[in-house]
Amino acid sequence: MRLLTREMACQELVELVTAYFDDSLSRSDRRRFRAHISGCDHCTAYVEQMRLVIEATGRLTEDDIDPHAREELLAAFRGWSEGRAEA
Ligand SMILES: [Zn+2]
Repeated sequence: MRLLTREMACQELVELVTAYFDDSLSRSDRRRFRAHISGCDHCTAYVEQMRLVIEATGRLTEDDIDPHAREELLAAFRGWSEGRAEA
């Protein structure tokens, strides 16, 4: 992991979402994941969407994530971070 202590970025959360539902995140990553969700409506919606996929299919793999939707989300994340540059 590159970012051990920094606040989790939206893009990192998207990358970790399968691990989160697999219960394979480290304790600190899980804490950062949840902390991020609690302050980010966009990621809350994304995680909720993934939860629905799991409920429908019983599991979540990278293949279950529509790559186009994921790319659109990541593009939107880039737009948001440009709009609010918190150092
Ligand atoms: Zn986010």
